[in-house]
Amino acid sequence: MSNRTFTMIKPDAVRAGNIGNILQMITDAGFKIVAMKYLHITTAQAEKFYEVHASRPFYGELTQFMSSGPIVAAILEKENAVADFRKLIGATNPAQAEEGTIRKKYAASLGENAVHGSDSDENAKIEGEFYFSGIEQF
Ligand code: ATP
Ligand code: MG
Repeated sequence: MSNRTFTMIKPDAVRAGNIGNILQMITDAGFKIVAMKYLHITTAQAEKFYEVHASRPFYGELTQFMSSGPIVAAILEKENAVADFRKLIGATNPAQAEEGTIRKKYAASLGENAVHGSDSDENAKIEGEFYFSGIEQF
C-alpha cells in the first residue's frame, strides 16, 4: 500500500467552491484517483475517524467542523504517495505552508485547512477503508 494515500477535501474548501481547483492540483501533481465519493458525515462518524486525536484540545472543534458540510473523500495512487501528498498540501497551519501548496492557496486557518492527507502508509490504509469497500477502489 506504500503507493497509496487517503485525502479529504474539507467542508471549508467545498463551501468556497474549490473542489475542482484542488482535484486539478492533485491530478496535475501526478496522483491517480483510485476511489472517490462526495458525502456529509455525522459528528459521530467524524469522532470515529479522528479517534487518535480524542485527547487533544481541538478534538471537539475538529469533529464539529468536519461534520459541518459535505466533503470529498478519495484514495490516491502515486509512487511515494504519503510523503509526496503531504508535500503537495503543505503545513497544517496555512500561515506556515509553502508557496504553491494546496493549503497555501486554499486554506484559511489552522482549524479550517482545506484538505486532509494521511501521515503514514498504515493510516492511509485504515483511513481509506473507513470510507471505501474493496469494490469501490480501482
Ligand atoms: P490532517 O490530518 O487533516 O491532514 P495534519 O496531519 O496536518 O492534518 P493533525 O495534527 O493530524 O494535522 O491534525 C488534524 C487536524 O486537526 C488538522 O488538519 C487541523 O484541521 C486540526 N488541528 C490541528 N491542530 C489544531 C489546533 N491547534 N487547533 C485547531 N485545529 C487543529
Ligand atoms: Mg493528520
